[in-house]
This record gives sequence, C-alpha cells and structure tokens, in this order.
Amino acid sequence: MLVVMRHEATKQQVEDAVKRIKEMGLSPHPMPGPTRTAIGITGNTGAVDSRQLELLPGVLELIRVTKAYKLASREMHPDDTSIEIGETTIGPGNFTLICGPCSVENEDMILRTADVLMQHGVRIMRAGAFKPRSSPYSFQGMGEEGLRLLEKARDATGIKIATEVMDNDNVDVAEEIADVLQVGTRNMQNFSLLRRCGRARKPILLKRGMSATLDEWLMAAEYIMAGGNYRVILCERGVRTFADHTRNTLDLSIVPPVKQLSHLPILVDPSHGTGRRDYVPPMALAGMAAGAHGLLMEVHPTPERALSDGAQSLNFGQLTELIGQIQRLAEPLDLSVN
Ligand code: PEP
Ligand code: MN
Repeated sequence: MLVVMRHEATKQQVEDAVKRIKEMGLSPHPMPGPTRTAIGITGNTGAVDSRQLELLPGVLELIRVTKAYKLASREMHPDDTSIEIGETTIGPGNFTLICGPCSVENEDMILRTADVLMQHGVRIMRAGAFKPRSSPYSFQGMGEEGLRLLEKARDATGIKIATEVMDNDNVDVAEEIADVLQVGTRNMQNFSLLRRCGRARKPILLKRGMSATLDEWLMAAEYIMAGGNYRVILCERGVRTFADHTRNTLDLSIVPPVKQLSHLPILVDPSHGTGRRDYVPPMALAGMAAGAHGLLMEVHPTPERALSDGAQSLNFGQLTELIGQIQRLAEPLDLSVN
C-alpha cells in the first residue's frame, strides 16, 4: 500500500500519518518526492484496512501495490532513484564506471590501480578482501588486512571503495571502511546477510544470483530496503545456462524490464558475465546501449599474474581504449560518464 500525501500536506500531517501507520502495527517508509511525499507501507500479511488512513488530513489517495516486492517497485516509487557515492551519482543521465581487481593482493598493486583509475576519471574502485571462491584451496582474499589496504588507497588517491561482504561479521568491519558494500551472486538469497545489509550505513551493490529470476532478485533488494536501507544498486553479472562459450550468459535482456518494474539503478558486469577479457569491451558497450546506469569491470595491472579472475580482467591499456569507446558512445546516448 502506498499513501500519497497531498502536494500541500504539512510536515505535521505526514508525521501524523506515519504515527497512525505505526499504531496499526505496520512499517511506514516515507519517501519525499519533488512534488509530494508518499509513504510506503510494509509489514502487512493481509490487506491493509485503508479506511483508517484515507480520511487522515493531508492524504490524497491510497494506492494498492500489486507486486510482491513493494519498496523496490516502481508502483511504490515512480521516480528513478539516484545514489550518491562521493562526487559520483549513479542514476539516470549518468554512466558510472566501477573498476578494479577481483581481489586486493598487496599494497603496491592496489595503490597503483587506484592511481591509474583516478587518472582515467574512474572514481569508485572495486576489489574484494573477502572472496567467495569455489575451491577452499584457492586464494581466499586478504580479509581485514585487505580492507586496510583499500582504506590506504582511498586516503592516497581519494577514490571511493566498493568491496564484497560474505557474512554479517564482514559487514560489521567493512561498513566502517568501504563506501559501497557488494553482495555477490552466491549470496543473493542469503537472507540473514540481506537483513544485516538493511541495517548498514552504506549503499549495497546487489549482484543478481546466477540462477535468479527477476522477481527473486527484486525480492532480495526488498529484504535490504525493508530494513531501512533504500540505497540499493542492482548489478547483472550473468546467469547459468547450457551455453559454455562464455563463463556465464550475460543477460542484458533483463535491463529494460528491471528499469520498467523498479526505480533502482542497474549496472552490468561484463567481466563475470563473459569470463574473457576480449569479450568484455563489446559486452560493456552493449550493456550501455541496453540502458544500464554503469559498469562493474575487473581491471588489474598484470592480469596474467592475478590471484583471481585474471582471464577476465582488463589491463590498463585495454581500459584506456575501452573508456575512449564509452566516452564516444555516451554522446548519442546523452549520458555523462562518471
Ligand atoms: C566479484 O565481483 O569478484 C565476484 C565474486 O562477483 P560474483 O559474485 O558476480 O561472482
Ligand atoms: Mn571476480
């Protein structure tokens, strides 16, 4: 249920409506908009008794939200959501690049990468300190030490940091340091982690589960938002199919429906989506043309020596070339690359 307040409703009337919703045992989510405030209601298991709300002063109308996900849906929030990370805004009109190595490996490589990214105008660096690896014998990431190196890279260059969290304890430490917390494909339905992210003070980059439907993905976003963290960025990273010519099948066809059904920004990850660096540039540009709000891409100073995902990581020269192409495509698409 969405309670739409009148354009001229006073602050007090909005507060009174919020109070009334709480008294009904439900959770109010006030959403101030450019012309009016709307209040989303969650927490009901059946239909909300609308008579208690429609006569409240300042209320214009009540709208039933038909989708199972509420806060993530466009029905509840018709305007696109933009998410600010430092000076970067992820949302309509912009095209945001988040780049960096799969993992933090040592101080030198992460500082060098941060420096090169900033020179290219990339203001958010991705790098995993806690790594979800298929084999327990593979490099598992540097853990908290990796977070400290990321902090050092930010202090040295000003770049913002996106890093993955795999469990609730990771969130406790990562939210102190990182600017964006990433939930990986394997954890998209880790509901305990999603709830913890709902209480986090940082935006969440929610990757699509490798076999998740659109509804399941938006329901995962809903878990985070229901906890009060509305800053969710979606990221398509490829799904499992019968096709084995690429690591995953990058499902660009999900971008338009996500934008139709949800107000949340969506990125595309052509690195995990293809698994091969030579396929990354064409799929990056295709993601841009499909309407994504940005890209998440793996970049490494020496991909051939990377401890994880080297085969799909661009080197700095390839990044320079691709950013040139992205800049050129941004013009006809009327996008500002940030
Ligand atoms: C990553 O971004 O390095 C990663 C592990 O991604 P995913 O969860 O999409 O596999
Ligand atoms: Mn990776």
